[in-house]
Amino acid sequence: MQVFAILPAAGLGTRMAGPQPKQFLTLDGVPILIHSLRAFASVARVTGIYVAVRLPEMERVQAQIAEYGFTDRVHVVEGGSHRQESVEHALAALPAEPEDVVLVHDAVRPLIDAATIERTIDAVLQHGAAIVGLPAVDTIKQVERTAHGALVTSTIPREFVVLAQTPQGFRYGLLRSAFAEATADGFVGTDEASVVERAGQPVAVVPGSAINIKITQPGDLALAEFYLRQRGQ
Ligand code: C5P
Repeated sequence: MQVFAILPAAGLGTRMAGPQPKQFLTLDGVPILIHSLRAFASVARVTGIYVAVRLPEMERVQAQIAEYGFTDRVHVVEGGSHRQESVEHALAALPAEPEDVVLVHDAVRPLIDAATIERTIDAVLQHGAAIVGLPAVDTIKQVERTAHGALVTSTIPREFVVLAQTPQGFRYGLLRSAFAEATADGFVGTDEASVVERAGQPVAVVPGSAINIKITQPGDLALAEFYLRQRGQ
């Protein structure tokens, strides 16, 4: 049994409003993508890591991977026009068997730690599919969008809610068939679990951490650097 990791890194990062996609910005002098790669490379059970990037960035990413000494287990594939397509391209490149484990992790979550990756792999081995999820601490409201803003329609008890993070892991055979079904139906989800859920498969939750942030807006960089330094102490 092998474990593969896919890091979709082909986004444009438009919410960051910078000159380059956020996955290439640096944290403590190291590109965000490399921080994420390091975490997966530090887990011995992960035998291959596939990074999906946009065609114009393939050379730059290959060079960074070589610069940081990751060439042996890391492969670069071309991404797609949305996240699901990027993951689909990487999935097609995996030399995987149906029982193998595939972890998908946002390249822009550089604070993921080895212990959470290990727990996700264990949960996939047990349940077939598992995601990292953060229990909700805020009260969750369902809203209706109107021309004058959002109106609350109901309150969702927070014990029934987790905020989905990554990694999200699956048996390779299960993920491939769920993706094939989604493609046939024209369904595009914002994470892999939504694709697997609609195929009727149960997905387990591994407790996540508030530190595992997704770098999305400019202020997130300063926060990630703070967490990174704290961890290094
Ligand atoms: O846009 P969002 O923050 O949801 O992106 C999550 C991850 O998916 C990022 O690492 C981004 O680079 C990746 N992505 C991708 N291909 C796309 C769009 C997003 O690999 N076409």
